[in-house]
Amino acid sequence: MDLSYGAEAEEFRKEVRAFLKEAWTPAAELRGADLKVFIKDFRLKATDKGYLYRAIPKQYGGSEQPVDVIKAQVIREEFGKMRAPMEMGGNGMNMTVPTLLEKGTEEQKELFIRKTMSGEYIWGQGYSEPGSGSDLASVRTKGELSADGTKWIINGQKIWTSQGMQSTHMFMLVRTEPDAPKHDGITYLLIDLNQPGITRRPIKQMTGEEGDHTFCEFFFDNAETPVSWQVGERGQGWYVSRTTLKHERASIGSADGLGNQFKKLVELAKETGRIGEPIIRDRLAQIEGFVLSHRYTSFRLFSCSAAGEDPGNVQLMMKLYLTEIGHEMALLAQELIGEYAFIEPEGAGGRGPRGPRGPEKWMDQIMGSLGNSIAGGASNIQRNIIGERGLGLPRDLAMSGEK
Ligand SMILES: Cc1cc2nc3c(=O)[nH]c(=O)nc-3n(C[C@H](O)[C@H](O)[C@H](O)COP(=O)(O)OP(=O)(O)OC[C@H]3O[C@@H](n4cnc5c(N)ncnc54)[C@H](O)[C@@H]3O)c2cc1C
Repeated sequence: MDLSYGAEAEEFRKEVRAFLKEAWTPAAELRGADLKVFIKDFRLKATDKGYLYRAIPKQYGGSEQPVDVIKAQVIREEFGKMRAPMEMGGNGMNMTVPTLLEKGTEEQKELFIRKTMSGEYIWGQGYSEPGSGSDLASVRTKGELSADGTKWIINGQKIWTSQGMQSTHMFMLVRTEPDAPKHDGITYLLIDLNQPGITRRPIKQMTGEEGDHTFCEFFFDNAETPVSWQVGERGQGWYVSRTTLKHERASIGSADGLGNQFKKLVELAKETGRIGEPIIRDRLAQIEGFVLSHRYTSFRLFSCSAAGEDPGNVQLMMKLYLTEIGHEMALLAQELIGEYAFIEPEGAGGRGPRGPRGPEKWMDQIMGSLGNSIAGGASNIQRNIIGERGLGLPRDLAMSGEK
């Protein structure tokens, strides 16, 4: 493991700092639409310099840089320190764009990539259905070709769509070959969500979250999408959905996040006057052990990635590890706060644009930490992956069975 970034990276860091000093100085009074314009302009300048949208070809508005995990990490660190905005986040940049770059047609790339980068198109992920979550290949939402063969007609339901209220478009998995083996009968489609055949309904959550960020379920009743919006071959959607952003993935960001959360937990133990209790100290020490080993494992992954080496099975464990430690911390916080965790202090701010604060923030974390361990593959599924791919155990029959 090599923990230094090297002289070349430190030179590059100076360049990035100088750029930020010059370009990222939003006047304190900038708000709303003015701030949005400033950020849009800043992102264009940062892309011109090669700092943002590095994996996106220039012809679609990216900066098309050679893969370099160390430079990418330096950029993340320096932008983070200055609280300067990086690329647009969300499903669009994390999933739709990489999938289109690898499997999309030229028309699809032209139509969708720039508008996703600018935030005009916001993408919902249409994978889960009632009855199809962990066993995603059992999706039942149906896609049938129109009589003239130009459109897919879609009927069925999707659920748990994050940011569903905001989404303008969806990438979805639909069953188009009902008689084929289950992994082979699925097609990957893009669809415009604003059309008469689609009903979206927000799902009320126990955290009380409402508005743009809430989950939605979608009902498709003869909804339509052009055949030219199908990504990859008909019936091969399962394999298209396996595409992810392969470039510059290694980052030590999540390890920093856990470390910061642990510091806050120790502060909370002090504030509640319980830092001296042996049982609390014991639990804090155990959690710190996990936080530190996660941190050093992420250093290891990062340095393997920078050296172009395969880190092996350890990377399969990171999601499980991250979400379990987060949940342990949240549980201890709940115990420290006790019944006050359920009380929103008068005037504490609540869930305004800046989110919850005070004890309620910890409650949010407690409930959210469960969500994190389910989203993107529940913990038991992560354990199956470690067992099967990492340790070579026999495959889970429930998942591999044919439909
Ligand atoms: C915060 C959050 C955001 C999400 N966002 C989206 C989104 O944007 N789009 C989308 O499509 N979906 C989304 N989901 C849904 C998510 O993908 C599913 O909830 C997840 O895949 C689990 O499916 P399920 O809820 O149907 O649970 P189930 O699959 O029914 O699982 C229930 C329990 O059984 C266990 N289990 C199931 N099968 C096995 C097995 N073979 N072996 C061992 N244990 C097993 C699971 O681990 C789990 O503990 C989101 C979920 C959350 C919590």
